[in-house]
Amino acid sequence: MTRIAEIVRAWPKAELHLHLEGSMRPATVVELARRHGVSVTPEEVAARYSYPDFDGFIQSYIWVTSFLRRPEDYAFIAHRLFEELAGQNVTYAEITLSVGVMLWREQDASAIFGALRAAGEEAARGGLRAQWVFDVVRQFGPEKAMDVARLAVRHTDEGVVAFGMGGDELAVPAGHFQEAYDYTRNHGLHSLVHAGEIGEPDEVRRAVELLGAERVGHGIAAFLDPAVMAMLAERRIPLEVCPTSNLRTGALTRLWRSRSLPRSSASLPSLREHPVAQLFHAGVPVTLSTDDPAMFETTLAGEYEAAAQAGLTVHELASIAEEGMEAAFLAAPERDRLLARLREMLRAQGLVY
Ligand SMILES: [Zn+2]
Repeated sequence: MTRIAEIVRAWPKAELHLHLEGSMRPATVVELARRHGVSVTPEEVAARYSYPDFDGFIQSYIWVTSFLRRPEDYAFIAHRLFEELAGQNVTYAEITLSVGVMLWREQDASAIFGALRAAGEEAARGGLRAQWVFDVVRQFGPEKAMDVARLAVRHTDEGVVAFGMGGDELAVPAGHFQEAYDYTRNHGLHSLVHAGEIGEPDEVRRAVELLGAERVGHGIAAFLDPAVMAMLAERRIPLEVCPTSNLRTGALTRLWRSRSLPRSSASLPSLREHPVAQLFHAGVPVTLSTDDPAMFETTLAGEYEAAAQAGLTVHELASIAEEGMEAAFLAAPERDRLLARLREMLRAQGLVY
């Protein structure tokens, strides 16, 4: 482990952008597939977890989620994820569930959520607080989004804290989802949107202005437009930045190609070119997350290390960790308790005073 990874590992930290379906390590997939009479090897899974582009990533996602068939399958992978998070000293996690995909596969999303909730309660007894985000697949369109919105509202008192949207941000204009976001917001849910991952900076603006996004998933394209960065800074809208994800899905390359940006070498952009440091230095609230840790072969400490490679100092990373806890969708007393624990560790390491 590098020095940065070692320091970060000790932080009792928050993970805010994490898809359950993207958290299945190869060994877990092998076990899950076996439950359904399918034989795959860890090497095959690893090969599936390598993609030429964003579309390739989506295809792998469809393949791996095809083994999630019953509520107990979801509970099984959630237990594995919670073990992993506890091992990384994550004290608070918001976990995104692709409810849009569950409905597309005609699964009983409420029964699945019941099993997940039980897994979450068990994790809480071990000191890891988890809450849930119900997520829509953008390319499935606004009607399907409303189906997910209604389900999210039905489970609001059971640990669902936010309504989110992922998938292909270029497929359907943000404005088409206003009704679903208004509906969930009026019922007390927070709003999250993946935007500015492969789309233009204006997608980030639309996520905030049209859909009321309180945090933006990725949002890295914002660095191309000072006005969008200023808007995020002024309104204190955090970005959930996932550097390795951007590298592995080709989002970073796409961003570079779209503007013919200068590169440090002739090869594809590397983590050194990731705009996380520019966003941070422009005053945009930045948090760090793994997105789909198994599919991108990363961990939360690994993402902090990636941000260090992109130019952030360990003190800046500490302030990003604090931002992560501050941006949690928790009531103030609980959030402040978790934040105090984090600060205590940062103080012990001489990183805050
Ligand atoms: Zn995501």
